[in-house]
Amino acid sequence: MDLRNAGVTDTHVLSAIERIPREAFVEEAFLDQAYANQALPIACGQTISQPLVVGLMTQALELNDRQKVLEVGTGSGYQAAVLSKLCRRVYTIERYQDLLEEAERRFAAVKLHNITTLYGDGYKGWPAQAPFDRILVTAAARIVPHDLVEQLSENGGVMVLPVGDVAGLEQEVLRVRKDGKNFTTERLFPVRFVPLVHGMPAGQKS
Ligand code: SAH
Repeated sequence: MDLRNAGVTDTHVLSAIERIPREAFVEEAFLDQAYANQALPIACGQTISQPLVVGLMTQALELNDRQKVLEVGTGSGYQAAVLSKLCRRVYTIERYQDLLEEAERRFAAVKLHNITTLYGDGYKGWPAQAPFDRILVTAAARIVPHDLVEQLSENGGVMVLPVGDVAGLEQEVLRVRKDGKNFTTERLFPVRFVPLVHGMPAGQKS
């Protein structure tokens, strides 16, 4: 009800959120806050997004069950899990291997079998799987990443992403629509995300 009142009106999105147990994606120490409308810390200094932001960004993607969707920034896996209920297949990229392995365990535990994961730099997208009908970025870039625009379908592709400064003080969600080689960009709402970081973290086990 809170999400609906705050503007998540798409009933498919609301029902996908209802069907994914957020408690399976938060750290044990924050279990009592799993259903509060707030972002929570996860491993590697990252965060699981606020449910309202997940709802609004998912709704902005205009999903259907025939689409192939790329997510950049797997994190806890929660957003990918919500997407998986609304499209054909989710491809999700994360630059911390520990987070990715934990997310993969969660996908199996909640029996989601249409999510494919990649340990890598999401700035580069996933060329081998492109084009994507939809792209959702869940970390803030300074500008719209060129490779991701390239990998968006020319046939009505939609990308939703936060863009703005690294400190998170001035970020907003943009929606980019691609038709042929042409783009239109809309500004949707202000947000605060962790930054989209270039390259891989130092000292990661391979
Ligand atoms: N969608 C996540 C929220 C993750 S927070 C969820 O539902 O929990 C943003 C994530 O983006 C972090 O896990 C961070 O490590 C990851 N990230 C940042 N820059 C990245 C990049 N260049 N490539 C892949 N992942 C990146």
